[in-house]
Parts: sequence; structure tokens; C-alpha cells
Amino acid sequence: SLGWAMQAAAADADVANVVIVGSGPAGFTAAIYAARANLRPVLFEGYQAGGVPGGQLMLTTEVENFPGFPEGITGPELMERMRKQAVRWGTQMHTEDVEYMDLSQRPFVIRSAEREVKAHAVILATGATAKRLKLPSEEKFWNYGISACAICDGASPIFKGKELAVVGGGDTAVEEAVYLTKYGSHVHLLVRRDALRASKAMADRASNHRNITIHYNTAVEDAYGDSTLAGLHLKNTVTGETRDLPVGGLFYGIGHTPNSKVFKDQVALDHEGYVAVKPGSCETNVEGVFAAGDLQDHEWRQAITAAGSGCMAALSTERYLVRSG
Ligand code: FAD
Repeated sequence: SLGWAMQAAAADADVANVVIVGSGPAGFTAAIYAARANLRPVLFEGYQAGGVPGGQLMLTTEVENFPGFPEGITGPELMERMRKQAVRWGTQMHTEDVEYMDLSQRPFVIRSAEREVKAHAVILATGATAKRLKLPSEEKFWNYGISACAICDGASPIFKGKELAVVGGGDTAVEEAVYLTKYGSHVHLLVRRDALRASKAMADRASNHRNITIHYNTAVEDAYGDSTLAGLHLKNTVTGETRDLPVGGLFYGIGHTPNSKVFKDQVALDHEGYVAVKPGSCETNVEGVFAAGDLQDHEWRQAITAAGSGCMAALSTERYLVRSG
């Protein structure tokens, strides 16, 4: 009957075609494509979970490698532009954290503190968060000398002219060390192993820099100081010998943890907690659930690759919705 048809249409109107979770380059690009395909996507851009709305680039200054901006663009401006483009084509934005999902029933259920949305498809794009060392006094000195982002915090007056330390041996750590030489009087790069994992070009930059000292086989045991950080207790990982290094800042460059907690029991993850996707696609093991960006990428982790996979996820979603009627 017509009544039944109208009821069915009304019920269906309550179900979104696609919910996108995350507002980094992956989430916004997925939203732009899905919105332009008339899917009227609903996007939860996050509030506190796994970072800030706009994602990791909100924490940086110049982005010099995103195509289309020959003079560079600041991270926040780039993200504001992506957001505007997603909104312009009709993305519905909620500045809320997704706190619960049920991907075992159809339609899928996505819940924040404020609302519940049902959807025929989901794109997970919650990114990744910088890892911490979990030192005994880490909480005490967090924002009072210890930071996970040199690029975000390095310019703070509390570090100016002080000796600083960076932990890590990869590209991120070396990049942070070089960056911090702009603010600190000297930078100590603390490397757990006996070599840098960073690319040759990056490693050379650090070794040749006169304001950087690399300490190999060095582990940080704890931090000390009164109200602000005054130094670090270090341990030689080979000899076991301990010593103190007075520094006014400690920066972590030890990698990232994918933000997969909310749906960890519902889609297949790899051993590091990244969402497992079928090679060359954004498909997870749950039909109709796609993953894009740093959440499923431990290799490239760039804005452009995140955006690229966001596009793939949206196009795959469109095909999936057509296929499943
Ligand atoms: P992210 O940018 O991590 O965004 C994830 C989003 O998900 C966030 O908005 C977060 O709030 C949201 N979220 C998480 N959990 C939830 C939840 N439960 N509910 C709702 N929302 C949630 N790349 C470059 O190409 N060029 C650069 O110059 C560059 N510089 C960088 C500098 C720094 C300091 C950092 C940290 C990274 C840099 N990168 C750069 C890497 C780049 O930022 C990332 O590769 C990219 O942001 C990944 O995009 P994404 O969309 O996958 O995730």
C-alpha cells in the first residue's frame, strides 16, 4: 500500500547512506567525493578522541608538499579549506566523538554522546596519534616540558634558549631535532639502538648539525624537576650505566598509535592495531565498512596519501551502495 511505501521511505530517510568518522585529509576527501555523489554523508569530525577536529595537520605549521600550493600552506588553513569544500557539497558535520559503534547489525549504528545515527555504509578515517614513553613522571611534566609534537610546541617560550632532547631514531625524531635547533641552544637526540632508522639524507642532516648531539644506546628512564622539567635520567642500554642529562624540554618522536579503539572488536586489525584492508583497496573484513588514511597505513602516512585513500573509500562506498540496492 501507499501507506506502507511512505512508511518505508520515512524509515529509510532515518538511515544515512554513509557515516564518515574522522576529519583529517582522509575523512574530508571521502566526504567531498561522497557528497558530490549525492550520498549526503554524515561526518563525525571528533572533538577530543584521537586528536583535534581537522586531524594531525592542525598541529603543524607549513605544509610544503601538498600539491596545488606552490608557496606552501599552513596545516590549519589546508584543513579549513578541505572542510569548507566538504560542507559546500552538503556534508552534514557533527563536532563530536564517536563513542560506540555496532558494525554487526544492518544498518550500522554509530553513536556519540549527543546522537545515534544509522547508516548503510561506514568510512573509518580516525587517523593515528603520536606515541608516548609512559615515563613515571610523564603526567607531571606533560605541557611543562614534555611534548609529543616539536612542531606544535617547540616555539613555546618555555623552551627558548634551553637544551632540549628528542627521543627516537626515525625520520620523525630527526626532523624534530633539526626543527628544535631553531629554538633551543642545543638538541640531544636520544636513540635506543646503536643506529638511526631514519633515511640516509635525514640521518646525515642530524649527524652533521653542529647543534645536535646523537646519543646511541640510550634509554630515558624518567624525568626530573620541580614544577617544570629540569632533566632526564638516562640509561645506557648496553652497559646499564645511568646518568643525568639536564634539559628543559623532552620531545617524543617514537611513532604513532592508530585510533582504532572504538571499533577494535568489530573490524579486523593488524598486529599494531591498524585496520587491515584488502591490498590495494579500502575494504575491511566487514562488507560496507571501509577504512582510509593513517588508520590503515603504517607506511606512507602523508596528507596526500590519506586524501587519496579517502577518495578510494568514497568511490568504493558508492559502488557498494549501488550493488546492495
Ligand atoms: P588524521 O589527520 O590523524 O585525522 C584523524 C581524525 O579523526 C582527527 O580529526 C580526529 O579528531 C578524528 N577522530 C579520531 N577518533 C575519533 C572518534 N572516535 N570520533 C570522531 N573522530 C575521531 N603530511 C604531509 O603530507 N605533509 C606534511 O607536511 C606533514 N606534516 C606533519 C606534521 C606533523 C606534526 C604531523 C603530526 C603530521 C604531519 N603529516 C604531514 C602527516 C599527516 O598529518 C597525516 O598523514 C594525515 O593527517 C593523516 O590523515 P588522516 O585523515 O588519516 O588522519
